[in-house]
Parts: sequence; structure tokens; C-alpha cells
Amino acid sequence: MSEKTSFSVQTKDELARIYPEKPCCRLAELAAMVRLDGTVTLGTGSKMGLFVTTEYSAAARKVYRLLKDCFNIEGEITIKRQTRLKRHTLYNIRVPMGDNVPDVLRQLGILAEGSSRAIMPGIKKDLIRTQCCRRCYLRGAFLGGGSISSPDGNYHLEIITSHERLATSLASLINRFPEMLAKVSRRKQWYVVYMKDSEHIAAFLTVIGAHRALLEFENTKIMKDMKNQVNRLVNCETANLSKTVDAAMRQIENIQLIEETLGLNNISPPLADLARLRAENPEINLKELGELMQPPIGKSGVNHRMRKLEELAAEIRRRSLASQEEIKLAK
Ligand SMILES: [Zn+2]
Repeated sequence: MSEKTSFSVQTKDELARIYPEKPCCRLAELAAMVRLDGTVTLGTGSKMGLFVTTEYSAAARKVYRLLKDCFNIEGEITIKRQTRLKRHTLYNIRVPMGDNVPDVLRQLGILAEGSSRAIMPGIKKDLIRTQCCRRCYLRGAFLGGGSISSPDGNYHLEIITSHERLATSLASLINRFPEMLAKVSRRKQWYVVYMKDSEHIAAFLTVIGAHRALLEFENTKIMKDMKNQVNRLVNCETANLSKTVDAAMRQIENIQLIEETLGLNNISPPLADLARLRAENPEINLKELGELMQPPIGKSGVNHRMRKLEELAAEIRRRSLASQEEIKLAK
């Protein structure tokens, strides 16, 4: 598979190649795929037909095989290449018009029980009675209407349908698993069942058996988390560094002011020594500055002397401001 193949396509390709073992699970998965991707055609009398359309050849083969195994129906596969607007291929599995189709549709939970033509609103309970079948129904639903964003970007998994009741039923089916939480939102004529939490998405991939996709999802997530952590650390260090630089610049301004006005030789020698060292070493922190002193002093000692220099500079500024005001007044 090429690198450009989306994560969604890779995931669906993996899922399409999983074939359920138990008959109950086969029916559940087929029911979901037909529900999400199927179209019922109405004929004369009680005759009905059905076709399922998918963009994935592996999914088309799966529907074909499931129809054969569950109902002994030979679907007709046609391939439509769409070249003008969309560049994808559509696979069509058609169940020919027949008297048996309504019963098949009732078993698949598409037609309501006892009704001739009414579509069943939610998910037929018989199809999702056991845990194995719930997983398979969700796999079929994802294959039919699902997509997942690459874990490189924002975490997002969704299944879309135009039926509101199906959307809410799918969300509650997902939410029967305690490790997941799905919500439903509206997008134009669609109802979107979605998850945005990476833990929930990972759980969904586990539940539907997308183990390869899960592995890639987790690996990418780990790399992304690590990158974010490194970035946070770097930003944090940069912030600290710029704080140190800002402080050093202010200290050097103070020292220059003292030198220009009072002269460093005219202040107390311990302060003058520190002032000279700082002026010569603007890039180091207070602790390192203390280590350069003769004799060395601790960080708090350096801090104390820096504050004295700061106060001295502040006093000089106050006085020069006052004298300027005097001059101003004198004019
Ligand atoms: Zn089952």
C-alpha cells in the first residue's frame, strides 16, 4: 500500500479482510454494511431488490461472500469507474429483484418485522444480542459509513448516516462498551456519530478488530506526544533563558549607569567586584556568577548584592529625574 493511502483507507482495507467465524456475527456484519451502504429497490407486488455500493473492492468481496454464506444469494458485482469528478471506483453488489428479498431484508433489520415496506428505524435487537455480534455490527457500520483521521493530526473517528435513529442507535451501541464514548452531531443532511478522544478511538479499533490500524495509531500517538513534550520543554527552557537574559540586561544597564555617574571605584568593593564580573559575563546566571567571585559566594549572596546595585541605580535615576525637574522649573 502506498504511503499516500489514507489511514482511513488502510483501516477499512484491514477490516474488509477480516471474516467473521460465527453465523450470528456474519449476519450482524452484513446487516450493518447493508444498512449503511445499501439501497432497496421496489418492484411489482412484493418483489424487492437490493444493492450495496462501496468504494472498496475488499469490502465488495466481503458483502458478496456474506450474502452467499448467510442467504445463499449470488450477488452480481459491477464496477463503475468514476473519472470525471471523483477519481474513485465504485463497486456495486446487486441482489436481483425477487420474492425472497423482503424476508432477507427483515432478517437484516432493514425492513420492520411484519411490515411490507416500512424501513426499521434503529438497529434490530436480535442482531446485537451478544458481544461478538455487537463488535461485528460496529465493524460493518464502520466499513459502510465510517472514517478515521490520521493520528498525525486531530483525533477523529466518525460514522455517518442520513437516518437520525440509526445514528443514535449506533452511538448507544458504542456506548454500551464502557471504554468508549460516542456523540451524535448534525452535518447538513447527515447525522454523524463521532469520537474525538484518542483513548476512545483506540478502544473502538480494538473492539472492531483493527489491530494493525491500532498499532499504527498508538505508535503515531506516542511519537506525537513525545514531540509535544519535547516542544513544551524547549519552550519552557527558552522562556527561562530569556528571563535570565532580560535580568542580565537590566543589571548591566544599572552597572553602566553607576559607572557613568558614581564610578565603580567609588562604591563598596564587594559590589564593584560583582558589577565588573557581571559586565564581563552577561550570559551566565547568578549561581555561576557567584562561583567566579574571589572568594566564591552563593546564589543568595549574589542576589543580595545585585539588589543593592539595583537600589543604587534606582536612587541615581530618582535624583537625576529630580534635578531635571529643577532645571525645568528654573527655565
Ligand atoms: Zn456473534
